[in-house]
Amino acid sequence: MLFQPQISPLELTENFSSINIENAGEHARIHLSGVPKGITNGHLARNEDEITMTKQDFATLAASGLILVDGATGSNLILAGMPRGVCTEHWVLEHPEPLIKLQAEYAEAGSQIVYAPTFTANRLGLAAFGLENEIGRMNRELVKLSRDAVSGKALVAGDLTTTGQMMEPQGDMTYDRLLEIYKEQISYLAEAGVDLLVAETMLGVEETIAVVDAANEVCGLPIMCSLTLEADGSAMYGGNALEAVEVLQEMGADAVGVNCSVGPDQLEAIIAGMHAISRIPIIAKPNAGMPVITPEGEAHYPMNTEDFARHMEVLIHAGAGVIGGCCGTGPEYIRALAKLRNSMTKS
Ligand SMILES: [Zn+2]
Repeated sequence: MLFQPQISPLELTENFSSINIENAGEHARIHLSGVPKGITNGHLARNEDEITMTKQDFATLAASGLILVDGATGSNLILAGMPRGVCTEHWVLEHPEPLIKLQAEYAEAGSQIVYAPTFTANRLGLAAFGLENEIGRMNRELVKLSRDAVSGKALVAGDLTTTGQMMEPQGDMTYDRLLEIYKEQISYLAEAGVDLLVAETMLGVEETIAVVDAANEVCGLPIMCSLTLEADGSAMYGGNALEAVEVLQEMGADAVGVNCSVGPDQLEAIIAGMHAISRIPIIAKPNAGMPVITPEGEAHYPMNTEDFARHMEVLIHAGAGVIGGCCGTGPEYIRALAKLRNSMTKS
């Protein structure tokens, strides 16, 4: 069933423009006593027999401090030699070493959650390469790669994204079809033993609703949602930052926020606005600045680790509770964020 937002996009846009970012830094953090099993000192350990993570476990983890996730996957695989235009998930399974090395480095750098390379491993994404019948095997093997790579040092999130198809009436995609597509991938991810789910680089609020709806129907795993937004907070396929928070937290999403998009230097107002109306942690996982396209057509992300961490500190003060990096970031960026987090915890 389609969840109907209680607030119209227009109202939200109006609210958004009137948000005073000066006041957004003063957010109270809830301190809960006790942390979930397997989590000590902000580090996470998982052993195979442990029961699946619950939504309460995620909330407790978030209440214990900033959650550090990983950095980019795709832009690092390209640097490691992945050609453009291939099916990323298939390439990773054929060439697992770069992914394993990258995720091992993320876990070592301090990522508490890494995203399994299952990004477009849904029926529609795989069908573009004639691989739709491999969907179960691929999701299973991709999750296992991440699990082996982090060797118990980090949680593994099953990763989902937009299908790239616009929904009715702008496009042809129906809500029911999208729901089936996500339910299928989520059932394979849950079966593969992911600790939680993440929907990232989502292009619209409604398609993100479909992922949360699907997760609710298939399993009770925690789900984080992040959209790719313009600097004004709007999403390409409809909806905006505030609508995303209002609707997704109501549906039971466990964190909501922004990934990819612009650099961290352009997100303060958006993060502050989202935080002001949220009851769940806000995710900030931006690119290393706005890409510069080289004469060869390659995207280059210009922001160095120091500048990235400096701008991320502003986003943390604006209310970000889950931090990481997207395109152009790598393990050294996560190390800088881990250092930042530690310095903020001490002060
Ligand atoms: Zn990105």
